[in-house]
Amino acid sequence: MPESDYIGRFAPSPSGELHFGSLIAALGSYLQARASHGSWLVRIEDIDPPREVPGAASTILRQLEHYGLHWDGDIVWQSQRHNAYREALNHLQREGMSYFCTCTRARIQSLGGIYDGHCRTLNHGPTNAAVRLAQHHPVLHFDDKLRGRITADEKLAREDFIIHRRDGLFAYNLAVVVDDHFQGVTEIVRGADLIEPTVRQISLYRQFGWPVPGYIHLPLALNAQGNKLSKQNHAPALPDGDPRPVIIRALQFLNQDVTNEWQDLRIDALLQKAVANWALCRVPEAADANTAFSNGSR
Ligand code: GLU
Ligand code: ZN
Repeated sequence: MPESDYIGRFAPSPSGELHFGSLIAALGSYLQARASHGSWLVRIEDIDPPREVPGAASTILRQLEHYGLHWDGDIVWQSQRHNAYREALNHLQREGMSYFCTCTRARIQSLGGIYDGHCRTLNHGPTNAAVRLAQHHPVLHFDDKLRGRITADEKLAREDFIIHRRDGLFAYNLAVVVDDHFQGVTEIVRGADLIEPTVRQISLYRQFGWPVPGYIHLPLALNAQGNKLSKQNHAPALPDGDPRPVIIRALQFLNQDVTNEWQDLRIDALLQKAVANWALCRVPEAADANTAFSNGSR
């Protein structure tokens, strides 16, 4: 039973099985929530069907259980939340805080990749158009509990970014904010690959008038070539066998104090030790600050 108001979460996209990199985000958010005597929620971010792999969501949930990462409450599935996203879009539209944009990718590329607000005053209808936020709350920096103050690229922070795609899909930045608010998430712990969109997400919280959660961006696990482990570069799935050596490697990656005897504990007891010993201040900002992990998860 949670004893504090802390609510954390892990929000995987079902585009493949969990690998060592996603385990870091899952474990880090879990430890921070449990050490704060809070709840830890899981949300499956299945809003982008073309990128999804059949069966990946149930595999991810099975992997979390296998690694002893038991969540609280019901799982939220983004595929079931379209009404909430639609409502948020309608709200922004009613307030005059969004607009339809028919600009092509080629046009935006010719501008150097950052959108210039061209369609803001053109009153396009919805046909073949994306919806953009009319940015009134640009956020130029935020405080990360691990990394300190993070300053955004100003052009990116001021951009009227897409909240509903031309292909009809809701944009990640909209869905993640609507859901984290809906689930009452107080602190977001995730990988450093999501630092960049954070200022956009905070500007949506401001736009909606919702309390902004805290943020912690964990170091990314890299492969031997120095690239982020990802489904795109074929990071191996977490092994199905003994979860304990993998959890220990993940704890070492997060630079936690681990003793050899932990290897012999049951997985739940091992995680209890990890919670009791969790020291966020020990987590390195960058993966290259730590060599415990270098070449895939096996
Ligand atoms: N679903 C996103 C991903 O797997 C993470 C979203 C988040 O943690 O904000 O990359
Ligand atoms: Zn446009």
